[in-house]
Amino acid sequence: MRPLVVQKYGGTSVGSIDRIQNVARRVQATVDAGNRVIAVVSAMSGETNRLLELAGGICKEPSVRETDVVIASGEQVSAALLSIALSHGGTRARSFLGHQICIHTDAAHGRARIRAIDAARLNAFLDEGGAAIVAGFQGVNEAGDITTLGRGGSDTTAVAIAAATSADACEIYTDVDGVYTTDPRVVPEARKLDRISYDEMLELASLGAKVLQIRSVEFAKRYGVPVHVRSSFKEDTGTWVVPEESNMEDVLVSGVAFDRDQAKITLPNVPDRPGLAAHIFSPIAEEGIVVDMIIQNVSDDGTTDMTFTVPRSDVERAMAIVRAVSAEVGAGEPTTEGDIAKVSVVGLGMRSHAGVAAQIFELLGGEGINIHMISTSEIKVSVVIDAKYVELATRVLHKHLVGDAEPDS
Ligand code: ADP
Ligand code: ASP
Ligand code: MG
Repeated sequence: MRPLVVQKYGGTSVGSIDRIQNVARRVQATVDAGNRVIAVVSAMSGETNRLLELAGGICKEPSVRETDVVIASGEQVSAALLSIALSHGGTRARSFLGHQICIHTDAAHGRARIRAIDAARLNAFLDEGGAAIVAGFQGVNEAGDITTLGRGGSDTTAVAIAAATSADACEIYTDVDGVYTTDPRVVPEARKLDRISYDEMLELASLGAKVLQIRSVEFAKRYGVPVHVRSSFKEDTGTWVVPEESNMEDVLVSGVAFDRDQAKITLPNVPDRPGLAAHIFSPIAEEGIVVDMIIQNVSDDGTTDMTFTVPRSDVERAMAIVRAVSAEVGAGEPTTEGDIAKVSVVGLGMRSHAGVAAQIFELLGGEGINIHMISTSEIKVSVVIDAKYVELATRVLHKHLVGDAEPDS
């Protein structure tokens, strides 16, 4: 059987008719080289934001069901345009929307999770020799309604389809030529990585490196899909995201990520008694809001201040819940702060080396950057700082902790 390649083209790569024609040439070349090809496409760059603004222009909180119908249309257009470009060039192609190839998701509009994909229709078309073009980012729930997978979700469509079809490779074509040690648009000295482990990529993605959506990396890890992140404008090899290899721990820090889309909520004077944390955080979790860092300061008078971070887009909903809980338990008035950012250092080598956290604090202190919150795991250290310092902090941490040099001891 001919090898099966899943290729995903991001918004910039399909951002104009010229670029769609460039993608068509790549798909065609892959077919001509003897492969079966499934191409997953994003909306043309800027389109999803434009569609969101249209819906948001009518009212502040448009129905999530209808918003998904609106924003899923971006991918529908680029899938059909690519199919037209391929057919025009003589390659047999057909576009498929989420519901046509049974991308079943849960019902969480705007951030739905893929539950199952029935690849039968795709396989049948591939067997006939055509290139299948799939609209990324969208699926269908049990009720038959259109859902979307969260921003950057076409990555997840691609990896999930690669898993469902047991593809030989999943290539993510984007506007950078691989995964870098940090965002190359912020730190020009960033280095391209040849390989990165699933776990490191999971951390980088969840900590703000939007080059891959986190759920795509979760799928890749769970189903062992090797992912190749590369540029749609060049032929060069990019970065392979792969299972951990024995020498990967030799590198202490493999990357620095930052996230400007966080907000901090503080609930003061919470009575300090068992069960209260659950009382506050359970309803937030039930709303599907991801709480990241939490700190609790116990004071002398038997109350405590709780501070935690949530995605900025969820802050209003989280505040409504916190206000209600606060009134119930007799805590103080909650406050929120949006001018913060999270900067994180990730590396498998941190498992076996102490001292990276201390070094981070010293480097930031040396620049006069105050740290509001800290959280660590086996392979990462994150700090919350004032948003205005995010680029400076990223550059300083990258300069001293990443690269060939071992960190100063
Ligand atoms: P696409 O539209 O192709 O999905 P995205 O904009 O979602 O592309 O993701 C690519 C962008 O991710 C790059 O342009 C880059 O600015 C950003 N990025 C952030 N961190 C990294 C990193 N560590 N390595 C590479 N790119 C990164
Ligand atoms: N078009 C969607 C977005 O802008 C999905 C994607 O590009 O992956 O988030
Ligand atoms: Mg993306």
